[in-house]
Amino acid sequence: MGLSLRNVKIKLVNRQNKRKIYEDFGEMLFTHFGVSGPTILSASAHLLRDKNVEETLKNGHIKLAIDLKSALDNQTLDARIRRDFEACKNKEFKNSLDKLLPKKMIDVVVELSGIQPTKKVNEITKLERTKLVELLKNFEVTITDFRPIEEAIVTAGGICVKEINPKTMESKKVHGLYFAGEVIDVDSYTGGFNLQIAYSTGFVAGGNHV
Ligand SMILES: Cc1cc2nc3c(=O)[nH]c(=O)nc-3n(C[C@H](O)[C@H](O)[C@H](O)COP(=O)(O)OP(=O)(O)OC[C@H]3O[C@@H](n4cnc5c(N)ncnc54)[C@H](O)[C@@H]3O)c2cc1C
Repeated sequence: MGLSLRNVKIKLVNRQNKRKIYEDFGEMLFTHFGVSGPTILSASAHLLRDKNVEETLKNGHIKLAIDLKSALDNQTLDARIRRDFEACKNKEFKNSLDKLLPKKMIDVVVELSGIQPTKKVNEITKLERTKLVELLKNFEVTITDFRPIEEAIVTAGGICVKEINPKTMESKKVHGLYFAGEVIDVDSYTGGFNLQIAYSTGFVAGGNHV
């Protein structure tokens, strides 16, 4: 909770049929309710449009795989961990990951690794290290639900663009009714695109009936 991660690779996968729903690279964060941040918001938009999403979520089939060390392949990461372990041979495993991971992740990774927390790092086997590398490269979280609409940052859905005259933003159905921003069925990734949609459509809508 309250941990922000940069330069991570995320992949949203349907566990049941192994289908990749979305992949991204960048920032994410762990919050009191689960996961958030730019890459997660984009992933959420794709997940929302996935077939039978409510059912797959309910059945626990949606997996978020986080590559915590995306800049390193498995071999390089293993070598890095080996170097860290060699530098502090008599340290207990639970105290050996502070150079590799943010503080808040260490206990979780230690627990999920299956390696005894008090084991001396020079006693850790190659197999245990391999599993640790796999955990860091593929840290799995099950997505069970979306946040409520009240907390939405960008909303999908709204007035269909086909029902709007793009030159004026006037409704094709109701004369004198104009639309702008979120009320229109357009949405985009975070990064300013939604604000741009609001500004541009607002400018056109406003400019055409004053
Ligand atoms: C926390 C957060 C972060 C965001 N970050 C980004 C980002 O980084 N990049 C990006 O592109 N987009 C971002 N967005 C989305 C972006 O802010 C919206 O897409 C954009 O503001 C939509 O503009 P709008 O004018 O359509 O609606 P709004 O900005 O929601 O404006 C609607 C206005 O109408 C008012 N209103 C509502 N009902 C009534 C009523 N009955 N009578 C009178 N007034 C009423 C509201 O008070 C509000 O002022 C973010 C949104 C949130 C919530």
